[in-house]
Amino acid sequence: MQLYSTGNIKEKTDFRSAVKSGLAPDGGLYMPAMLPRMPESFWQGMTGDPLDVKAQKLFDVLLLEVFSESERKEIVERAFTFDAPLVRLDDKIHILELFHGPTLAFKDFGARTMAAMLSVFARQEKEEITIITATSGDTGAAVAQGFHGAPGVEVHILYPSGQVSPLQEKQFTTLGDNITALEVEGTFDDCQRLVKACFSDPRIRSQKQLTTANSINIARLLPQMVYYVHSAIELYAKSLGHFSQSSEVEKIVCSVPSGNFGNLTAGLLAFKMGFPISRFIASTNINHVVPDYLDAGKFQPKQSLRTISNAMDVGNPSNFDRMLDLYNQDHDAMARDITGAWYDDDQTRQAIVQVWDNHRYVMDPHTAVGYLGCREHLSEGEQGLVLATAHPAKFPETMNELLPGIVKTPKRLAEIASRERKSVLVPAELDAVRDVLLKN
Ligand SMILES: *Cc1c(COP(=O)(O)O)cnc(C)c1O
Repeated sequence: MQLYSTGNIKEKTDFRSAVKSGLAPDGGLYMPAMLPRMPESFWQGMTGDPLDVKAQKLFDVLLLEVFSESERKEIVERAFTFDAPLVRLDDKIHILELFHGPTLAFKDFGARTMAAMLSVFARQEKEEITIITATSGDTGAAVAQGFHGAPGVEVHILYPSGQVSPLQEKQFTTLGDNITALEVEGTFDDCQRLVKACFSDPRIRSQKQLTTANSINIARLLPQMVYYVHSAIELYAKSLGHFSQSSEVEKIVCSVPSGNFGNLTAGLLAFKMGFPISRFIASTNINHVVPDYLDAGKFQPKQSLRTISNAMDVGNPSNFDRMLDLYNQDHDAMARDITGAWYDDDQTRQAIVQVWDNHRYVMDPHTAVGYLGCREHLSEGEQGLVLATAHPAKFPETMNELLPGIVKTPKRLAEIASRERKSVLVPAELDAVRDVLLKN
């Protein structure tokens, strides 16, 4: 697979360099230069396959020249260890639960796949790869859990002391092995500054092969195509007995709760391979710069505002350039495929309570935003698919306020909370961080 940068379409890069560098040297985002359009028989042939088998078939097409057959198998086996069940809410709406991984959010798919790919690269190059990343909570958890035990990869996570919720902190400070947590006496901005300083430090660079596990990495997008394919095929199969593109069956519309728009971009990539989703709904909270663009054709990044769906509090979505690129900067074309929708916290709270009252189903605040978009914009003759991006137990304050006593803490989360925290306390200075990095 060849890739180009959204900053320079002419220059091509191979998949390995794109994954290891994350961002292109010109500051652009990597995009696949060619996505094969697959025939209906390809999709049809996946009907009834479990999620990991569908992942295997898709990776066999996309990554044929990048990894050997056994390497592709190894990657899928390491990354796709949990399911993405489809729950029927009513006649029109299904919920796709993407939160059954170790950190109870859809980001587990991307983080685990990227870790597995880097392990293969590290083995081929006979050189250890060092991941260094700053976190204010969620990213650290997904990266630590995803990369834990990945052979040939060591991970350093920098986080601001006292500024991460205790449960989140436990998710990346209790693993040990190849995961080191650096508790920085400073702010999140200090952590980001230190990560940058490590990348330009000659002493570190001469001894370590540094990479980030940033969410704009193309390796995190590919696995997210898989669950779109999986859920839509199974939904078609349910209503028709088999999957068919040409039938009279109701068209499928995906509503995606969005912040940086990586998840939605992955859906668009699947769409480009000929996968028959009919259109998308881009659902956001009050940080609605993309819905505004879809409405009026103008993109105006803003300061982000805080909401109860905080993983979507993004004022300048990093994947928007990828969306523009997929549509050749054509606003009208994008607006034909994607409808924007946004909701405030009160509407989100109401939706959580209503869906519980009507269907006895519990949605987290992010999923609720997706549900609202789906409910408002679904037309006659369409089936809605709402991507459920996180488990409600991750948001105890909101859920206890709205539905007291209803949400049970999953075993995995309770178990992590009881483990012992291990971190290295460091002042917010490069010398101290370097010492820790070079000691390992
Ligand atoms: C990251 C995240 C989102 C937003 O996903 P994007 O790919 O950034 O649009 C939505 N919900 C949850 C729970 C998340 O963690």
